[in-house]
Amino acid sequence: MQYFVDVILPIPLEKLFTYAVSTSQADQLSPGMRVAVPFGKSKIYTALIAKIHTTAPDIYEAKEIHQLLDVEPVVNNFQLQLWQWIADYYMCTVGEVFRSALPGAFLLESETLILRNDKIEVDENDLKDDEFLIYEALQHQSILKVQEVSAIIERKNVLPVLNRLLNKNIILLKEEIHEQYRPKLVRYVQMGKAFSTEAQLEALLKSLSRAPKQSQVVLSWFQLKTVSTKPIKLSELEKLSGVSTAVIKSLIDKGILEEFHLQTDRVNYDGDGPPDHLKTLNQAQQNALEIIEDYFAQHKVTLLHGVTSSGKTEVYVKLLEACLDSGRQALYLLPEIALTTQLISRLQAYFGDKISVYHSKYSVQERVEVWNNVLHKKSKAKLIIGARSAMFLPFSELGLIIVDEEHEGSFKQFDPAPRYHARDAAIVLGNIHHANVLLGSATPSIESFYNVQIAKYGYAQIENRFGNVLMPEMQLVDIKEQSRKRRMNGHFSERLRDEISDALKLGEQIILFQNRRGYAPILECNTCGHAPQCPNCDVSLTYHQGKKQLRCHYCGHHMALPESCPACGSATLDTKGFGTEQVEKELETLFPEAKVGRMDLDTTRGKHGYEKIINAFEQQETDILVGTQMLTKGLDFRNVGLVGIMNADSLLNFPDYRAHERCFQLLTQVAGRAGRTQKRGKVIIQTYNPYHQILQQVTNHDYDGMYKEQLYEREQFHYPPTNRIIKITFKHKEFNRLNEASEWFAQALRNLLGNLVLGPEYPPVARIRNQYLKNVIVKIGQDQSVTKTKKGIKRIEKSFNAISQYRSVRVIYNVDHV
Ligand code: ADP
Ligand code: ZN
Ligand code: ZN
Repeated sequence: MQYFVDVILPIPLEKLFTYAVSTSQADQLSPGMRVAVPFGKSKIYTALIAKIHTTAPDIYEAKEIHQLLDVEPVVNNFQLQLWQWIADYYMCTVGEVFRSALPGAFLLESETLILRNDKIEVDENDLKDDEFLIYEALQHQSILKVQEVSAIIERKNVLPVLNRLLNKNIILLKEEIHEQYRPKLVRYVQMGKAFSTEAQLEALLKSLSRAPKQSQVVLSWFQLKTVSTKPIKLSELEKLSGVSTAVIKSLIDKGILEEFHLQTDRVNYDGDGPPDHLKTLNQAQQNALEIIEDYFAQHKVTLLHGVTSSGKTEVYVKLLEACLDSGRQALYLLPEIALTTQLISRLQAYFGDKISVYHSKYSVQERVEVWNNVLHKKSKAKLIIGARSAMFLPFSELGLIIVDEEHEGSFKQFDPAPRYHARDAAIVLGNIHHANVLLGSATPSIESFYNVQIAKYGYAQIENRFGNVLMPEMQLVDIKEQSRKRRMNGHFSERLRDEISDALKLGEQIILFQNRRGYAPILECNTCGHAPQCPNCDVSLTYHQGKKQLRCHYCGHHMALPESCPACGSATLDTKGFGTEQVEKELETLFPEAKVGRMDLDTTRGKHGYEKIINAFEQQETDILVGTQMLTKGLDFRNVGLVGIMNADSLLNFPDYRAHERCFQLLTQVAGRAGRTQKRGKVIIQTYNPYHQILQQVTNHDYDGMYKEQLYEREQFHYPPTNRIIKITFKHKEFNRLNEASEWFAQALRNLLGNLVLGPEYPPVARIRNQYLKNVIVKIGQDQSVTKTKKGIKRIEKSFNAISQYRSVRVIYNVDHV
């Protein structure tokens, strides 16, 4: 009997592809295992078996597979169901989902690049012959292609040996070269507990009278204590007292001084219980918990709406604990930027080694390890914390999914396909597993709140901050008026400057938010008005002062800063608008004594980019942190007294139906970083439009008002949540062809769907990397079938592709585009 397998290839094919297998292979195979298969003229891919059968394909002759790659399935049936849903709903192929779902190391293909791992000692005797040949080749040549490996070992099928080398950590794949960084632990010192009263201190100094160096240390400690409220670093103490570390150490050994590390001791810093005990919930948290459990009993997705710092995390923790106790797996999803060491260590304190973390900054090996642990239901992978891709792990007994910061747009994958929304896909995943799903946010998305209103979701609320800490006091500062009165200094109003210096005096920290990186978005000639543009994209270059460069934020193109205007030659180039880098520079002049940190895409590259900056701020090595929206999420800094929004208007002026919702969420979230302890925090919002409705709603903490108004507008203009939208992007390097093709497609859509088709229109940046772009928006009314509409669109695409001059135009679907 001839056997065949239908496989999923990691490329955008509409159908599964069929290969022939021998009877003995068929015996060893089951769905969810990987096989290496030839495809096209010379390519080899890792494919996944979906089905084993005996029916030959009728259109083509089935080739034989190259090799089995697994002895047991690495993907289960729950996952295949989820992939299929994603492919159908988001209008892509299962192959594209497959490619994005598996860690890169599972997907070796002929194009993969291989490097040697310098960080490992290799015992050559442990290597098999073929392994050794590759290892040796990598000593002479730092990068090998799979084809080259194939030539070296004189064999076509090389994926198994590469898999072995990957498992032994001897090789790396090209994409995963990471910076190595360990969070630095700063050493701090405080007086020992036995010396807390005045009398005890006096006695101590007396007893040290014949040890002048030691008493000098004690006196220096007090000197530092009186000038600053911050914890005292060992290095500072050493410097001021002028003694060696050995002297300080002897005081520590005697118990006169105590050493501590701010980072590790944080858990106990507030006098919390021992780290392995869960906190007792307060009444509001307890009520919320019970309401959530009730809804779960009715199998309802539930939204937890709790203001910033209301203690949502502690409620999640209770639910997670119950889930783990029942023996099932749990998934805690966060947007990438909220996935901080802060949160991870907080959860580790409760759940210890049951936690695994999974996100894109982890190396391929680390991701494979987590994958296998989940697959084998290992106890150390009972609770997974991760960014959106964590939902693709091979769960088999999932009991609970928490989607924290559910309003975050970054849950939606933008590029490449699948362009899925992790929150929405997580709800489907929950359904597949009969698992409970909780969405959490201080500023719920309009969609989720709408689903609560129509009783599709359950709802629990926490209206006050934990410990009854007051919500921060918000003030709008009119910068138009301030400019008129000449009260602005750079981009700082008088009010903001005063508040900053007050906060600095009190030893409080400050966060300043500006939604743009770089120094200034535009460099413009004062004489002729010329602004240097990116040659590949229709956008002005952004000025980065530190590197003396102009850079394109879309394609990465950069050039040295011109000395004079490239158009007219005059030397009067001036900046327009401003970014985080300029804010940082201005602070240096305004507050020369303050230590300033900056957190944006430019300063946080590399695996531990964020942590370095966050740790420095947490340890109070920096006084002021300037950043983009990266610093809005989930960070819990105890000592922040003031948050300043440099310019709220840039958030309001986006040409996007979600701009106002997003502005409300972003400002509320940044503001929520202020005053998380007893003292009430302050927020200063600088704007040219202090009477703008959204800014009023932000300052009044008026979520309901925002929701009602936005919902009304969305209904009027047929936008979500009442309607659905699909954005179709057309892409081509020839301007005319793109116009013609997109016009044709839009017309066909209008014939089918009527007037709920908008466009084609150019997006704000109409050319990126030399490709022209045009968008069509399809709105789907409440009374229309989403499935039918999608099928109709796909049919139009088929006819479109049949027209030869249109075929090369790329068509990209973005369903529920955010
Ligand atoms: P949210 O997630 O809503 O922003 P958090 O869970 O971070 O709020 O809580 C804010 C602060 O209050 C944290 O420092 C947390 O440790 C503390 N906290 C919250 N709930 C409790 C509790 N029940 N007992 C003690 N401390 C709590
Ligand atoms: Zn000029
Ligand atoms: Zn560019």
